[in-house]
Amino acid sequence: MRKQFDANKKPIYSNCRMLSPTNVLIAMCGKEKMDWYLERDLAEKMDEKIFRLKFIPKGNGHDGDLFYLSEKENKCVVCGSTGNLTKHHVVPYCVRRHLDAIKHHNNHDIIPLCDKCHQKYETLYAKFLKEKIVKEIIDRLFSPEMVEGLPDKIHKKNKKEYIQVLKDASALMTYTDVMSLKRIRLLRKRIADYLGKTDEELSPDDIVMLGDMFAGVYDRGRFIAENSSDLKHLVLRWRENFIKSMCPKFMPQYWDVNKSITLD
Ligand SMILES: [Zn+2]
Repeated sequence: MRKQFDANKKPIYSNCRMLSPTNVLIAMCGKEKMDWYLERDLAEKMDEKIFRLKFIPKGNGHDGDLFYLSEKENKCVVCGSTGNLTKHHVVPYCVRRHLDAIKHHNNHDIIPLCDKCHQKYETLYAKFLKEKIVKEIIDRLFSPEMVEGLPDKIHKKNKKEYIQVLKDASALMTYTDVMSLKRIRLLRKRIADYLGKTDEELSPDDIVMLGDMFAGVYDRGRFIAENSSDLKHLVLRWRENFIKSMCPKFMPQYWDVNKSITLD
């Protein structure tokens, strides 16, 4: 069986220390970041893993933030193993990459897991939460207040037909410009039939909602990101899910389920 997670050759944390021009520790960072400053002559190397900026940085960096200023160990946070480490995104990467607020500069929610623990978590627990959140969003989008009677109709139909209709709606949302009129009529008819409506009764909202559900079925990360208005709550759920299901004994010191997702 192909391994799902390729272990990193490089350590997850290289624990390089960034000092201000007045020698105050303002961040721990990776070696790449240290090299970036050194290559541009923006900093001087003090020691193998310590560098001092030649300019006063904007803001205070992570000044006073114990999580970001503390040294972190390269070991699996669950079992303590130091071999075959992988980067685990607490908020799944497929979701995180669509969230501008956290996709950069949030190392708090990237932690080391050995490939075995990573596989276990993704297969048994992360998948479950992802499906649960998608289902909640779908239920919300299809709440009776929004579309009277639609949920019953949806659930009674067979799955193959259901998926086809979602695909049709998604195609109508994306490709009408390049579709023949005949094709558009065919897709609209299938959707209308499915909803028990006539072509005249079929509204743009019907199509958008079914098209959005297609995204929910096939690109769950984007679907979750685009339909979660409370980002703080979303992040909290993923953190809690990881902690409760895996009971990690070696979380980095100062890691906190309630940690702010922004740098304030
Ligand atoms: Zn492990």
